[in-house]
Amino acid sequence: MPEIKVDDSKCKGCYICIEACPKKCIEISKEFSKSGYYPVKYTGADCIACQQCSRICPDLAIDVYK
Ligand code: SF4
Ligand code: SF4
Repeated sequence: MPEIKVDDSKCKGCYICIEACPKKCIEISKEFSKSGYYPVKYTGADCIACQQCSRICPDLAIDVYK
């Protein structure tokens, strides 16, 4: 099953990956990261490994696994 992993230490909370995801499977975490942002996280379902999110992330915070 495809999935993404977000590196909380790199995510700056710009949320453009949420807009870019065609399957709406990225959401904002309710917990602060150590860097002081609310990072994004995988919702846990529906990822198709299209890599739109990882390509658009300016901080290279998302890895996609097929
Ligand atoms: S695009 Fe990158 S930095 Fe912006 S919210 Fe998504 S993971 Fe975080
Ligand atoms: S790889 Fe595609 S479907 Fe999966 S979270 Fe990223 S944008 Fe969404």
